[in-house]
Amino acid sequence: MNEKVLEKIALERAIIEAERCLFCYDAPCEKGCSINLPISNFIYFLKNKNFHSAYEILRENHPLISVAGCVCPEEVLCQIECTRGKIDEPIKIRELHNFLTEFFTDNKNLSLPEYKYEEVAIVGGGPASLSCAFYLRTLGYKPVLFCNDEIGGIPLKEISNFRLRDEILKKDLDFIKENFIFRYENKKIESLFELQKDFKAIFIGIGLSGEIELEIDGVDKEGVFKAREILRKIKRGEVINLGERIGIIGGGNVAFEIANTLKMLYQDKEVFIIYRRGASDLKCYPEEFERAKRLGVNFYFGAIPNEIIGENKVSGLKVCQVSLKEKDEDGRRKPMKIENSEFIIPLDNIIIAIGQKLEDGIFPEIQKENGLIKVNENYMTNIKGVFAGGDCVNGGDTITRAAKDGKIAAFKIHEYLRRI
Ligand code: SF4
Repeated sequence: MNEKVLEKIALERAIIEAERCLFCYDAPCEKGCSINLPISNFIYFLKNKNFHSAYEILRENHPLISVAGCVCPEEVLCQIECTRGKIDEPIKIRELHNFLTEFFTDNKNLSLPEYKYEEVAIVGGGPASLSCAFYLRTLGYKPVLFCNDEIGGIPLKEISNFRLRDEILKKDLDFIKENFIFRYENKKIESLFELQKDFKAIFIGIGLSGEIELEIDGVDKEGVFKAREILRKIKRGEVINLGERIGIIGGGNVAFEIANTLKMLYQDKEVFIIYRRGASDLKCYPEEFERAKRLGVNFYFGAIPNEIIGENKVSGLKVCQVSLKEKDEDGRRKPMKIENSEFIIPLDNIIIAIGQKLEDGIFPEIQKENGLIKVNENYMTNIKGVFAGGDCVNGGDTITRAAKDGKIAAFKIHEYLRRI
């Protein structure tokens, strides 16, 4: 089938789906969206076959709209709130939005204001920073991006091509780089006080580039990997020899991203998720858990790692079974080790995916709380004129949430700069 035919089929399906929308006066779907996309508006234009206007609504309201169309967990955000779900099925919002970003992204009507304000420094090149640059530029500022890596953050480096194809990501990144970044400097910022000599306002969107360590015996054995290392190898398309039985320790989205991707790449390998709590306590999106089950990922729930075993190279993981007791301070069931319940899971390699953290020692001048950058209600840190948002503040969330942080911070920066 050629592209035109495919486009026509997609178009017909999209219109039929858009016609199911009730155009609710209070649009609960929009409240479920972290960045409050005007969902009923874009669906209305789509239904009326005004595809370019529908796309422009999306583009104006989400700087990484094509990326979001691929990776946003709509089943726990906008779609779960959809009124239509109470009648039959929720509107397939992400599918509609995906259809528009697939076929109508020429951006020919883009019109930006003249530069009328000063340069603002943005430290980091991921979704929060790109979103902040996007909105600062639309307000007339000159966003200067400082990043010691390629611009793109986690979507560029760590989300597998199965979930986010390069050409989709490229659409968003090129659009932002070409239109919304005044200057890009490929360098690491060591001191914010130094940067303050040249900029009255700074936004920090550095994400969480460190990884939480697993403190058990044997973590330094050959065959133990950190999650990020594996995600980046997969993203670069490197062939990874992880043996026949691969254990992934963790129950969050990163652990499932790795497990699902490995299973898609190497169907005949046995992939295990090893998690200290139960299936209902998993921190990943339900869709990822369901995908893992469909792909044939195996699970050890209620298993706390005790020791990585093997001579020099990993041969297995000794775990202890747990019973889940009262809820802890996060409202989650606390795992308690069961005496004499240890057993060994034979494994060829182990990947530790138990969470991310700020890079060690980063910006000591900035106040931290619970290992994250602390900001006030205006997204400002303890240093006047220095703002922050995204994963480095919220502890890791969706790309849309990071984009929202960058957007709000841009307006807070505007308020601040026009007042001082
Ligand atoms: S809640 Fe559902 S039905 Fe209502 S406007 Fe949003 S998408 Fe349409």
